[in-house]
Amino acid sequence: MSNFWWRPLLTVGLLALFPLILWPIAGAVPARIVFGILLLLYLLHHLRNLKALAEWLQKPDAGSVPHGSGLWEPVFAALYQSVRRQSDNQRNLSTALERFLLAGEAMPDGIVMLNGSGQIEWCNPVAEVQFGIKLERDRGQWMNYLIRNTQFIDYLAAHNYREPLIFKSTRNRALTLSIQLIPFGDEQKLLISRDITQLERVETMRRDFVANVSHELSTPLTVIGGFLETLADMEHFDETQTRHHLNLMHDQATRMQNLVKDLLALSKLESTHTVHREEKIDMPRLMRELLADAQVLSAGRHHLQLNLASERGLLGNEEELRSAFGNLVSNAIRYTPEGGEIVLQWEEWEGEGVFSVQDSGIGIEPQHISRLTERFYRVDRSRSRETGGTGLGLAIAKHALTRHQARLEIESTPGKGSTFSACFPARRL
Ligand code: ADP
Repeated sequence: MSNFWWRPLLTVGLLALFPLILWPIAGAVPARIVFGILLLLYLLHHLRNLKALAEWLQKPDAGSVPHGSGLWEPVFAALYQSVRRQSDNQRNLSTALERFLLAGEAMPDGIVMLNGSGQIEWCNPVAEVQFGIKLERDRGQWMNYLIRNTQFIDYLAAHNYREPLIFKSTRNRALTLSIQLIPFGDEQKLLISRDITQLERVETMRRDFVANVSHELSTPLTVIGGFLETLADMEHFDETQTRHHLNLMHDQATRMQNLVKDLLALSKLESTHTVHREEKIDMPRLMRELLADAQVLSAGRHHLQLNLASERGLLGNEEELRSAFGNLVSNAIRYTPEGGEIVLQWEEWEGEGVFSVQDSGIGIEPQHISRLTERFYRVDRSRSRETGGTGLGLAIAKHALTRHQARLEIESTPGKGSTFSACFPARRL
């Protein structure tokens, strides 16, 4: 501060020097007038700088800080530094905020920032979709007014956010969300929502699968258990009846064996996503072998035909593809009444390699077609069981084909027959 005073005092001293010299020469009055004029000029200089400052304050910007002279020079320089620092800080802050918002928007989870009263302060686009909110319209709205779900309202009110809440979105019923509130800052809360629809679906599939397997195994076991009990209670063994019971038990044991075999095949296919050992499969040979197997299965009940429209080989795992094709062939035989026609074909169609099995069997109603490859899905449960079906054949075939980038196409007319085709990409030929 002491630095401040010496300059104005020196200036006033210098201004007074001239009138003091003038005084003895021109007299007191002209010397005073000159001193007055000099003081006035000095005042005008300050007023001009003050005016520049006042004008600048209307629109403060680092680029237009006025240039001052004299006493004002350090003042304006300090002002310039301070404004520069401030705008640098502001720029850093807004870059950080922008980055934070961009990161928030890129998050795969929904994020909603709530204030102490549960009003929306900000949310990312994923949260907008999951909760059906629009930030522009709903900023400041109470979250529990927008999501009118009692579970959700209770969760918000409970103040115990250790466990996430699983709930079905009110806007989109097909969406299952896992929601967690994280308190932060000054009573604010971060609402994180994760779409777990797919996880839930997989979990439901797993539960259904376990239930289905248990059910499929329990039926033959009950039958075997029942017969064994009857045999144990028999006082006199009736040979014909006992043999009959043993045959029935053998059928049930075979059924369980088939089921376990198919389950193992499925689990083997699921244990890896890629085909293990790829080789060039001699398709004409494989087709002839499939025909021979079909003849054994059909036992002369159907007219079987092989149509080899292509001699091309196929790149893939023979064991997996034989099982996939075998399932399609065995289905054609099992779902085609005696006397029906079954054609096995290997051809090239629009660059693709196509294996198909055409039958003149019972056919399938259109509403079932998209579900046939689900595990244990059967159109006619009793017919599938009677013919030794496990309900897993098409699931296995679909799995094996997908691993070979092939698609399964099903065309069917109820009462007329079906065609199951496996279409392989050209690069596998
Ligand atoms: P399953 O062991 O019951 O045959 P799959 O998975 O092989 O199980 O087939 C699923 C269902 O698809 C069968 O139960 C049957 O209803 C239907 N299906 C499969 N192939 C044929 C076909 N060629 N003709 C008619 N229906 C079929």
